[in-house]
Amino acid sequence: MTTSSPASPSATVTKFMAQMADGRELIYFDETHHEDRVLIDPRDLPEVVPGSQVRYDALLGEWVAMAGHRQTRIYHPPANACPLCPSTDRNPSEIPSPSYDVVVFENRFPSFSGTGQGAAVNGPAGWLFQSRPGSGRCEVVCFTSDHNALLSALPQSRMRTVIEAWADRTAALSAQDGVEQVFCFENRGVEIGVTLAHPHGQIYGYPFAAPKTAAAIRSAREYRARTGGNLFGDVLAGEIADGSRIVAENEHWVAFVPFAARWPVEVHLYPRIQARDLTELDSIARDALAALYLDVIGRMEGMFSDSLPAITGVHQAPVHADAQDYWLHLEVLTIRRAEGKIKYLAGSESAMGAFVNDITPEVAARRLRDVAAPRPGNAGPDAR
Ligand SMILES: [Zn+2]
Repeated sequence: MTTSSPASPSATVTKFMAQMADGRELIYFDETHHEDRVLIDPRDLPEVVPGSQVRYDALLGEWVAMAGHRQTRIYHPPANACPLCPSTDRNPSEIPSPSYDVVVFENRFPSFSGTGQGAAVNGPAGWLFQSRPGSGRCEVVCFTSDHNALLSALPQSRMRTVIEAWADRTAALSAQDGVEQVFCFENRGVEIGVTLAHPHGQIYGYPFAAPKTAAAIRSAREYRARTGGNLFGDVLAGEIADGSRIVAENEHWVAFVPFAARWPVEVHLYPRIQARDLTELDSIARDALAALYLDVIGRMEGMFSDSLPAITGVHQAPVHADAQDYWLHLEVLTIRRAEGKIKYLAGSESAMGAFVNDITPEVAARRLRDVAAPRPGNAGPDAR
């Protein structure tokens, strides 16, 4: 069963829905008309057998996902068997079409799947050992059909299409029963643990608000009660006023190394006007995000001659929590601390959650500003 329902999330992107052989959803985000769009997955796939669980850590007040079924997922396939490349006769991949621009599909090995929260079940030893089904949704976002492309080398129009896909999926997953937070992210590089080389990211629809988000919301509530201000907005204003950690900016977005950065190179991108998630950004703000994000990634790549193992996370307000002050932002970090050297999470970080950063944020910001602007139109504060 295949459905085709062209929709237009923006003037420039056309959406086609399809269904994969095992029932998963696949969505094309087309920048131009593709004659060869294939909506029928010809493969014969066994049914997806999900089965993750979330367990409550009563000591830290956090949910932790258990997804043992993911151990069988595809691990570093050869390039000619890439499941994210367009399908060919020899390689019937996850994407049935011979080409695509941006495509999103449900992960065959999801950490979260299914609708509804599912009732919390107490363990034999009582309510301190609660668990629930790991409901939610996990999707894969392919940024380009080119297996060897670098995200930073993609045209700005493509990054804009990726943002359109992120926003579209944020709206869709937010409406799914049981999803409490939508997280769009990208892991890059084998050092990060990426198992597929093809340029892609992921989207999680969590059945809970993630621990970092919950902590920031608690801080913002306390700050609001104490000062009447918006914590995120005041931090942004403070960074702009100080200026020493600003990396790049444009009319709608500001990129800075946070005052208490944990990673050797860590850049946060904030919209100048509050939005709680990507769906609240207008078209102009999405254009400006595409420009600044590619600029920041280019600067981070320019700092090292080695490859850039990196993580990009789109931090959005939880779907149902009371989080009026939450401020959408992107956090981009690399675990590279110097040429040929990686920052590992060792004793203090892994055991205690207490980070020790090897580069001060002001030095990191200056080095990022000193990288010649990889794209025109975005300037660091020194260029003002
Ligand atoms: Zn590929």
